[in-house]
Amino acid sequence: MTAQVIDGKEFAARVRGQVAEHVAKLKADHGITAGLAVILVGEDPASEVYVAAKHRQTVEVGMASFEHRLPADVSEEDLFALIDQLNADETVHGILCQFPVPDHLNERRVVARIDPAKDVDGLSVVNAGLLASGEKGLVSCTPLGCLMLLRDQLGNMSGKEAVVIGRSNLFGKPMGQLLLKESCTVTIAHSRTQDLAEVCKRADILVAAVGRAEMVKGDWVKPGATVIDVGITRIPHPDKPGKTKLLGDVDFASASDVAGAITPVPGGVGPMTIACLLANTLTATCRAHGLDEPEGLTA
Ligand code: NAP
Repeated sequence: MTAQVIDGKEFAARVRGQVAEHVAKLKADHGITAGLAVILVGEDPASEVYVAAKHRQTVEVGMASFEHRLPADVSEEDLFALIDQLNADETVHGILCQFPVPDHLNERRVVARIDPAKDVDGLSVVNAGLLASGEKGLVSCTPLGCLMLLRDQLGNMSGKEAVVIGRSNLFGKPMGQLLLKESCTVTIAHSRTQDLAEVCKRADILVAAVGRAEMVKGDWVKPGATVIDVGITRIPHPDKPGKTKLLGDVDFASASDVAGAITPVPGGVGPMTIACLLANTLTATCRAHGLDEPEGLTA
């Protein structure tokens, strides 16, 4: 292996440290406590794990964490009443509803109900539009995390060829917008892209967000490229019966012989998502109070 392995776990801890410093300063200088509200509808076990991790890390950086649990059969009216209440609550600076929600609720309508200034997941049409038009909004957490890793790794990205595989609203599209903002030449590839391997081979920056285990092979990677692996596929563990293992979209063994730097799965992009949720909550708090935004923690 020749590539440098990008340690997302360590970097995320650094981001949380920076957030914690700003949060403490907000408290000391202005008497403001940044607050994040998380809504969980129903009892999906994976969502329970995510919400618990978000709560723990929110408290660790010194923010107030408000958890709201609603029954799986909650009506849209009652969910919206809670969102309206949180939108109006001055102690709440960020709101997120953990997805997926039960089938009778519509995720797009739920996101649209959240005040865009408090939409710390950056998923609303308003925030997507602000990003696309180069204005200040809140950016989807995982692409923001990838941007932070890339900035740390490469510094100035101007003029670089960037290829993003995947065009979802959650990841691919905002990632493409962020790289364009960095003055990269951006290609967004997807399931209909022809000669994907050739397209990928052009990339100085290759970001894979598909959800197909080890799809990107070493011979798809330009020598020296920076490879960011966002995909997550859980498979039965080959050596530990009853256990599972995570695989990325990139065949790490072959790609790490060619790339200049690469994120592993797990321990690469994954830990950045909650760190960026906290960074977004801090940004939303500063904006709500007309204060300067934290440097290096926004797009
Ligand atoms: P998604 O909505 O399912 O989008 C997948 C994208 O991959 C689509 O744009 C699809 O193209 C494209 N695609 C599918 N098969 C392809 C192929 N054979 N060749 C090229 N492109 C192909 O998924 P997502 O929400 O963006 O997430 C993508 C992956 O990232 C998942 O594994 C997810 O678990 C992971 N993820 C991780 C984090 C994290 O680490 N915190 C956060 C978000 C996502 P079409 O549009 O043409 O169908």
